[in-house]
Amino acid sequence: MKMSLTHSRQQFLAYETHGDPAIHYGRKGGFFISTCICVCFVICAVFAAALVGIIVYHITYFTLGQQPKDLWDESEPFGQSSSPAPDLRLPTTVIPSFYRLKIKADLDKSQFSGDAYITIKANKRVKEIILHSKGLVIKNATLGEQIYEEVDIMRSRIKRNTTDTSTENVTTDGATTENAIEKANGLDTSTNSSDPDPVTISSVASVNTQVTHSNVRNIEIISFQSSSGDRLTLKLGSMLTPNIDYTLQLSFEGRISDSLTGFYKSSYRNSDNEDRELGVTQFEPTSARAAFPCFDEPAFKAKFEISIAHPKNISVLSNMKVATQESVKDQPNWQWTHFERSINMSTYLVAYVLCDFKYVETNYTGKDNKIKAIRVWTQPSLIHKANYALSITPKLLAFYEEVFGVPYALDKLDLIAIPDFSSGAMENWGLLTFRETSLLFDEKEGMPGEKRGVAIDVSHELAHQWFGNLVTMRWWTDLWLNEGFATYIEYVGVNHIQPDWEMFLSFTHDKMSLLHTDSLKNTSPVSRKVIDASEISQKFDDISYAKGANLIRMLNNTISERLFLKGLAIYLDTWQYQNAEENDLWEAMSQATTDDEFLKDVSLVEFMNSWTRQAGYPVVHVKRDYKTGHVLFEQRLFTSAKNPYKSMEKQLWQIPISYTTSGTPSGEWTPHPKLWLKGKTLTAEIPLNDTEGFYVNVGAIGYYRVNYDQKNWQLLSEALKDGSIKDPIAKAQLIDDAFNLAKANLLNYSYALGLTSCVINGEDSKIIWDMLLDNMAFLRYNLKTKSGYMYFQDYVRLLLAKQLEKLNYGVKKPVDDNEALLIENLLLWECMVEAPRCLNWAKTEFHQWMSHPENNTIPSYLRSLVYNVAVKHGGREEFFFLWEVFQNSTDPAVKNLIITNLPSTRQESLITFLLEKSLSEIPKQYAATVWGADPPEGTRITQNFLIQNFDTVYRVFNDLDSFTFSSILSMVFGFIAENDELDKLKQFVMQNKNRLVPMSQTLQMIVDTATLRIDWIRTHSRGINDWFHKYLVEHASRNISMSTDATWTQNVTINISDSNTTAPSS
Ligand SMILES: [Zn+2]
Repeated sequence: MKMSLTHSRQQFLAYETHGDPAIHYGRKGGFFISTCICVCFVICAVFAAALVGIIVYHITYFTLGQQPKDLWDESEPFGQSSSPAPDLRLPTTVIPSFYRLKIKADLDKSQFSGDAYITIKANKRVKEIILHSKGLVIKNATLGEQIYEEVDIMRSRIKRNTTDTSTENVTTDGATTENAIEKANGLDTSTNSSDPDPVTISSVASVNTQVTHSNVRNIEIISFQSSSGDRLTLKLGSMLTPNIDYTLQLSFEGRISDSLTGFYKSSYRNSDNEDRELGVTQFEPTSARAAFPCFDEPAFKAKFEISIAHPKNISVLSNMKVATQESVKDQPNWQWTHFERSINMSTYLVAYVLCDFKYVETNYTGKDNKIKAIRVWTQPSLIHKANYALSITPKLLAFYEEVFGVPYALDKLDLIAIPDFSSGAMENWGLLTFRETSLLFDEKEGMPGEKRGVAIDVSHELAHQWFGNLVTMRWWTDLWLNEGFATYIEYVGVNHIQPDWEMFLSFTHDKMSLLHTDSLKNTSPVSRKVIDASEISQKFDDISYAKGANLIRMLNNTISERLFLKGLAIYLDTWQYQNAEENDLWEAMSQATTDDEFLKDVSLVEFMNSWTRQAGYPVVHVKRDYKTGHVLFEQRLFTSAKNPYKSMEKQLWQIPISYTTSGTPSGEWTPHPKLWLKGKTLTAEIPLNDTEGFYVNVGAIGYYRVNYDQKNWQLLSEALKDGSIKDPIAKAQLIDDAFNLAKANLLNYSYALGLTSCVINGEDSKIIWDMLLDNMAFLRYNLKTKSGYMYFQDYVRLLLAKQLEKLNYGVKKPVDDNEALLIENLLLWECMVEAPRCLNWAKTEFHQWMSHPENNTIPSYLRSLVYNVAVKHGGREEFFFLWEVFQNSTDPAVKNLIITNLPSTRQESLITFLLEKSLSEIPKQYAATVWGADPPEGTRITQNFLIQNFDTVYRVFNDLDSFTFSSILSMVFGFIAENDELDKLKQFVMQNKNRLVPMSQTLQMIVDTATLRIDWIRTHSRGINDWFHKYLVEHASRNISMSTDATWTQNVTINISDSNTTAPSS
């Protein structure tokens, strides 16, 4: 699943409100993904942002310690003190192997009914069967032993054509095959090679040996009843005999839900202004059980044969190709659509969609030499936006088949844009579902960031067809195997089809952002135990996705791409159609690397476990002895918490160390590691020139930060200044490390601030600007209400001036997407520091549009920025102009752009207006977005509204899916910078503890972040403002373009904090 930007806000807002790169809703790696960042990303991002953002209040009292213990326990993470969740895992005594599902879906009545025939087998004598069922009415249950007898079924020759919708049913003629089971465990031996395509086909079905039962020895079901954990328990009249197939038949009914999970209803307005409905499924992680009774855990893989009854005038899609269709008896205008039998898969990957959409189509010849149809489906009026996704899908498929060495497993692939969709996208096998803005792109009107967003999401979901679908995690503890891999591969895939986007620069930027989040006190390991289903949704976070991806990249770099791919091939080959755990992957990698010299003393299992099973990450302190030439490496937990957990402080990681020097020609730099730091310290003899800077973690691929002795920091600064270090990643990394070391009191802030002037004479590299401004955003938010903020504003204008001039303020068309994104970011900052030129320009652009609403001349890539300025600095007129466009537009990209910017209004009544509308009128997938008001004024309003209307807000959003309410909490409370707000939050949480425990991780991160921020403001704000002031005074009379030589490494010495130090204190 690709988590969504349900609550996406554009970059402007992100900076404006959160001041941290990790919070770039809709923007990843400096580009828009307007709709495809995961809710959880948002959640984590908010924290990171929150961490960064600090408000200006000088703390006159610090009430943390005053909280009564019974209200908020500071000694352990929120939610952990409640009694441990009961283990609600299904017993493994009864195993399903096949589901025959027949479902009648009535969208008009919002209900469905169905029959499930589940083939099960017991592995010991048991007298009960426990499976999942949620919100279903079970009408009937029977259980019978299957006795096989081989039957030859002669299939008839069939001929169909487009107009014939009541085709003779070949594979599923009623009762005979309802319980049919293939004795062979091989893949589908279905004889049906017919194709549902609207072309005339003629196929000869071969003679098939179908095995079916002829007799059934029934077993009495004494009772069936629901119990906790969505479980359905069937008590039997007699024992099940091990190793015999039984068929459990369950008849059930359910409501097609109004939420965004299970089998739910979505709608859109067509070009004739009619409302049309569609039925959609979203099962991951635990909602298959809401659509049919099943063993709803990923390790219970089975084959599925699905049939759906529906009105003839709509299309039905599922994982597999359509086998046949037939009329429904006694129901004219209804038909059954029968799908082919699937291969072994987990329940969360099952999907079906009923709609009246259109599609564009292409053919793809797979590595297995089969021709496979690829279709992109959308509501008819948006069909012109489907071509981009259609064009990249075959390229990505071919690339993955090549790299993984395993063909795409199914015979077709559908990608469909769903009008109401919770996450960004979902990898259902053979039927990928997307939020509209994650799949559709308008080549004429679209923004460059949107195009990348589509490429990334398609690439991600396609990667899952191998990682996740073919090989699946055994349990949600290893969700990161699915998501970390897909996230890593999404960059690899997009980089392959569009190298000029420089995806690995984006990857590096995203990693640096993640390091902020992952230094919080209560951050958790990639691989962490999940017991109860209610904990599963909390796993869909930045740690599983982005940290997982980074660890995999670090492994790749450590063992080399060649051996990494060899290991992958072993892993996929060994585990396909099965479930695996992380150590299965490391074992496969070990097999691939047995002969490698660098790895001879390393256990890959131990190496990777040290990263996946421990929370957080290390900082490596590098101390050079300039006399002896020895270099001392020492590792410690890097944390932004003042009082980290003792157990975490003892953690040690196995760290591959790469290094180079500023004197080494850049062509000779290699990220390949040369040393292992496995213990606390390591001393190495490295021949170094005293006048050269020593640079560790080349390419920023290792998942750690690096601190140096003072002299080496000086040498590195000089190397940046004189151009001997040119590499943009190295520059960005040094800036980011310096800022974050300073934040953690490991380096004097003047070093970090001194580095920022490296762009003052102009800088073309986007990643350098992105990292620099991300870190400045942290300061900005914290300093915003201080009197010295004006110095900060002036300093930022100084930084931007040359490069903006060089880019002609975005007046001329950017040469490529990267430049467009850079211009947007710089202008965004120019407006954020309230440069009159920028504000006037944005307002003029907007008012021109207002006076000619039919003709929007604002360049598409600057629209978000202009809308934001207009709403923030305008009044009701600008607000309601955009609100009208939002309401009347049928274009999801337009709607998304507007709804992300409306909450930046400064008018209280308008914020309340949006919040009220979010509870009723605003379509589901946009509703949460409006909760992202600007702190501190806006969030004070949203906080009060949430607390006063908690029951309603909780009901509306918590019912939607398991992610949205968490992200609302993050948006509302994620930017707390004052003690009174923090106290209010704690009180609110404790009063509603029962309902909020499932969001414990989110809430604990909010509290950690707020605590940090309050402390940071107290410690650092004054000294930093003084630095800016002093810089400006010293350089006021000088020509800016001349100033950098002198100032570049001149670390203005101001006593910013007593605790600042450049060396680790032991
Ligand atoms: Zn995913």
